[in-house]
Amino acid sequence: MNYKYGSCDFCRKCIEVCPTGALTDYIGETVPIGKARLTETCIALRTGACTKCKEQCPYDAISLDERMIPIIDEDKCNGCGVCEHICPANVLQAYTGHKVRGIEIVPLEVKDTKEAP
Ligand code: SF4
Ligand code: SF4
Ligand code: SF4
Repeated sequence: MNYKYGSCDFCRKCIEVCPTGALTDYIGETVPIGKARLTETCIALRTGACTKCKEQCPYDAISLDERMIPIIDEDKCNGCGVCEHICPANVLQAYTGHKVRGIEIVPLEVKDTKEAP
């Protein structure tokens, strides 16, 4: 998943089309595929002038603290990536060399379900 190009709306098409069956079906939006976390490039950490991720999170997983800094609700976040996709931090801070967005999705660790030999 590269959230710089898009986000996941849990349509399950990738499961249908994967030619090797490498993708396991899942229950949909209630099963997280990752968790969002703030990075040091978040504009709100310095100016409090950006609230885009809070406005656009489809699952209401982001709130703002008293300084207008995003707080991520780990229980509500399912890793859809909308926040990382729309975050303008790397564009607005490009002159300082930033390539990282102000929020990024950390994939959940994949458990190895294969039987031990
Ligand atoms: S990654 Fe998400 S949006 Fe893309 S096909 Fe799979 S379920 Fe759909
Ligand atoms: S959209 Fe990006 S820069 Fe704006 S508040 Fe959210 S993480 Fe910070
Ligand atoms: S990944 Fe971002 S947009 Fe998606 S649920 Fe989590 S905080 Fe909201």
